[in-house]
Amino acid sequence: MKRQNIRKLWMIISLLLFPVTLYYFSPALIINGAVNGIINGSFIVFALMLILSVPFGRIFCSYLCPAGGLQECAFMINDKRPKQGWKNNIKYVIWGIWIIAVTVCYIHSGEIIAVDFFYETENGISVSSIQSYIIYYGIVCLILIPSVLFGKRVFCHYFCWMAPFMILGMKIRNILHLPGLHIKVNQKENCVSCHQCSKACPMCIDVAGQVKIGKIRSAECMQCGACIDNCPKKILSYGMKRSK
Ligand code: SF4
Ligand code: SF4
Ligand code: SF4
Repeated sequence: MKRQNIRKLWMIISLLLFPVTLYYFSPALIINGAVNGIINGSFIVFALMLILSVPFGRIFCSYLCPAGGLQECAFMINDKRPKQGWKNNIKYVIWGIWIIAVTVCYIHSGEIIAVDFFYETENGISVSSIQSYIIYYGIVCLILIPSVLFGKRVFCHYFCWMAPFMILGMKIRNILHLPGLHIKVNQKENCVSCHQCSKACPMCIDVAGQVKIGKIRSAECMQCGACIDNCPKKILSYGMKRSK
């Protein structure tokens, strides 16, 4: 439980810093930078997400994402399990269209003229004007309202433009058989089907069902460790070994 408290503390700190960090997670600013031939903070952050997800999976989602923190606050209002299925693919469509737009804008701009990590920020701070406050509250509503209406981390499941980078990183890891952080199932025969792991999962994964097949395979797993910490039989643990 101590680990989950530390995780939640990190998420709250990240959420409090969201007015500072907002423009480093902005898909719109990447397009703006691409039109002007500039590689900006969001571009660098998203590139790091892709690269770091190869060894560390979606640990950003469980410890550092301000949008994740905001949605976990919404658990107090609605902690229902959202419907899974085709809606989980909406984020890939959004991401694909956006990647094409970014690529076209960079090609059209002709050349990269600058790398500016603090692009469009005021001394590195994102929310520093009335206009940026309006954008900030718009984004907060975009993330919060679906979670309040439809359940746990709906924005992550359906709409997030950052998740596909990390899912892609984990796919690259699997294809190349590289080692990386994952949830390991030990002695599945000791499982008593109490479903505590599934109940604890902030991403609403059927962990107990996956324990039966001996692997946590879901692309939605963000390696938060809640299932590990809530299993009375200590069947789950972190692993780093190369996948087979
Ligand atoms: S899926 Fe997106 S919004 Fe959710 S925690 Fe991960 S990066 Fe943040
Ligand atoms: S399966 Fe476990 S580690 Fe993965 S998101 Fe769910 S609780 Fe967290
Ligand atoms: S919490 Fe542990 S014992 Fe209970 S269903 Fe999950 S893996 Fe099995």
